[in-house]
Amino acid sequence: MQKKVLKLISPIWDHYVVELVNGVRVATCKYCNETVRAEQNKNNTSSVKNHHYKCRKNPANIRTDQTFINFPKVGSVVDPSAPM
Ligand SMILES: [Zn+2]
Repeated sequence: MQKKVLKLISPIWDHYVVELVNGVRVATCKYCNETVRAEQNKNNTSSVKNHHYKCRKNPANIRTDQTFINFPKVGSVVDPSAPM
């Protein structure tokens, strides 16, 4: 295990790059580049963990005991400014 300079304690953060964007802490998944808001003053890891467990590119989720690995591959990037 490597120690990082970040003040984030949970090992969940090892899977994310955390940045401050317009005053909002945003975690970017290292596997699929999806961004998840990581607010400090809530259950700050809940949304991140939620993504962590559903992330289809997370090696931890690629297991034979998971039955939902047959999702169609989605290559689109979530962009709120893009038209539907
Ligand atoms: Zn991900």
